[in-house]
Amino acid sequence: MIDFHISLSFDEALALLRDVAARHRLDTESLALSRCHGRVLAEDIDAPIALPPFDNSAMDGFALRHADLQDANTILQLTGEQFAGNSHELSVQPGECVRITTGAPMPTGADTVAIKENSRVEGAAVIVLTPPTPGANVRRAGEDVREGERVLRSGEVLTPARVSLAASLGISLLRVARKPTVAVFTTGDELVEPGMPLAAGQIYDSNRDLLMGLLRADGLEPTAWPRLPDDPKQVEIALRDAGCAFDLIITAGGVSAGEKDYLPGVLAQFGETHFWKVKMKPGMPLLFGSLDQARVLGLPGNPVSVLATYLTFGRALIDGLQGRMEARPAWQAQLVAPLDKSHARREFIRGRVFSGPNGALHVDANPATGSHRLRAVADSNALIVVPEGPQHFAAGEVVEILPL
Ligand code: AMP
Ligand code: MG
Repeated sequence: MIDFHISLSFDEALALLRDVAARHRLDTESLALSRCHGRVLAEDIDAPIALPPFDNSAMDGFALRHADLQDANTILQLTGEQFAGNSHELSVQPGECVRITTGAPMPTGADTVAIKENSRVEGAAVIVLTPPTPGANVRRAGEDVREGERVLRSGEVLTPARVSLAASLGISLLRVARKPTVAVFTTGDELVEPGMPLAAGQIYDSNRDLLMGLLRADGLEPTAWPRLPDDPKQVEIALRDAGCAFDLIITAGGVSAGEKDYLPGVLAQFGETHFWKVKMKPGMPLLFGSLDQARVLGLPGNPVSVLATYLTFGRALIDGLQGRMEARPAWQAQLVAPLDKSHARREFIRGRVFSGPNGALHVDANPATGSHRLRAVADSNALIVVPEGPQHFAAGEVVEILPL
């Protein structure tokens, strides 16, 4: 009797996978900012200083008191210079102004900056040709970030802008989740290395490059293991070996119910199966378990199954292991043509998304059927997600899409 979950709904399987990932959250490390890009933050960040840290000029020009600008062509006396990079502690008295550059601290008493191009200098006199509005061209201390304010949260992904925000606050190290180490296996007696001659009945291994590319695009540095034949002993030895050394094992092929599909049995015997088979199309025989220290995601071998299961379950697992709390953006598009489906499973259909004249996204489903048809993937830039059960979508109806 097999005591693991077999044939779950898509949502049940995803919830189970997220739960397992949360229980095997990776440890954290403190990294220099330059190495934090794309990582998941593992601490909350409260601003140690305000941003901007001091009132400063937004333009090159003259710092002045707005009350002095009675009318156009007011003449002010130029009493000093304040450039970015230091503070001369200057002050501006009534009738005076100070030459100032962008980013330089505002002299005391000044509340407004007249921009250089709208002023004329004659000796020590500055004539403001176009009077600015009160407070114009001044950036106030703390207007972007108040000191002590929470600016970044644990579980957020460190985009370039977030890393840059940390830098602007003077932070040099961030605590982030370790990136999962990933071993990639392709399996199948029929598979041949591209570049080698093809004998009768053989095909080239295309999944390895698909998976390596998907993982690298998600910021990981996967390790490709030698391709595995359909041999239970070799599958066992390789998986157990990788299970001691990697956080995540991703395999392609050999997870269905065929005579040569050995992965479910090896995982059940030497590890733990969390679920096997998900009501999705393609990708139904998806296998998820644990082996030694690794989580194991066994993707079905058809290339489109690899893509659909990686984008849904593979990514969720990688995100969960790193404690990513921020949901990935959800995308929707209008169908170009009607779409019908009668089966019970959630379906992923290849398609091309484009921006229509009204600014909305449109998606054109690829007519290719069959999860072996990689060319149709190469011609696509998204998967259309069609919900469970019989569905009829008219042209123009909105569907969820997963961008490729
Ligand atoms: P499997 O999941 O092992 O039953 O494989 C399903 C289909 O995907 C079969 O037609 C395999 O030949 C094909 N396939 C499996 N692995 C790969 C691979 N690495 N590259 C290309 N096709 C594959
Ligand atoms: Mg196979």
